Amino acid sequence: MENFRIPKSHPRYESLMKRERLIEGFRKGIVAYAGLIAHGRGEAFDYLIGEKTRDFALDSQKAAIAAIILAKNPVFSVNGNVTALAVDEVIQLAKILNMKIEVNLFYRTEERIRKIVEEFRSRGVDVLGENPDSRIPGLDHSRALCTRQGIYSADVVLVPLEDGDRTRALRNMGKFVITVDLNPLSRSARDANITIVDELTRALKNMISIASEGMTPEEAKSVLEVYDNNRQLSLALKFMSEHLLDISASLEG
Ligand code: ATP
Ligand code: MG
Repeated sequence: MENFRIPKSHPRYESLMKRERLIEGFRKGIVAYAGLIAHGRGEAFDYLIGEKTRDFALDSQKAAIAAIILAKNPVFSVNGNVTALAVDEVIQLAKILNMKIEVNLFYRTEERIRKIVEEFRSRGVDVLGENPDSRIPGLDHSRALCTRQGIYSADVVLVPLEDGDRTRALRNMGKFVITVDLNPLSRSARDANITIVDELTRALKNMISIASEGMTPEEAKSVLEVYDNNRQLSLALKFMSEHLLDISASLEG
């Protein structure tokens, strides 16, 4: 295995391990070519927040847990990148919050669906998506496929690393959409009800801790009442700008 060559002392060990997971997922046929490119896009934005979870992201993570707690049929929509990076965290969070998991791919092939389903099944977890019986209106055929008991009837969908068109289509169906996206400028980030500007694996680990601590429906309601996604996106952009200015100032000495 190539990743044994990355020493733990490497300053960017975490990031390099994630890259290895993506490459391994690609080799297994779980991750699409475009998934590798999307990961690079995410990495670039992670530099801009110093590869750490910041306060604005923690607030969005808390709001996301609140929305899922208040949901009737919350669904966790996963793709190849999400599975390659964080299959165990997805399973853990979905279990704590009683969420269904559905495989939903932008570049759908039956082969890739089957392999992703198998990643979950080999861990004793059943997921939806292999036999779609419904469609998300407004998307072309293969991108629209979903299941009636899962995404189609969901009130809240947690859909990390999602394409902008699909996020919009889910919103048009009246769903409450939560995304995880390091790029606050992407269409998904701007169209979701809650955008967590953080790296997926870090975000899910934090969300597992928040969910494990528990939240009453009353607490959840009051968290959501004061939540404003545009404000969170603005805070993320401000943080990135100031972070760059700080680095620039330190170079000037
Ligand atoms: P959009 O379609 O929303 O305008 P896009 O086409 O750039 O944006 P997609 O490829 O459709 O984006 O979705 C992937 C998004 O996920 C990108 O914005 C990318 O920055 C982000 N991303 C990739 N890897 C991660 C990660 N590990 N954690 C968080 N975000 C990530
Ligand atoms: Mg896109």
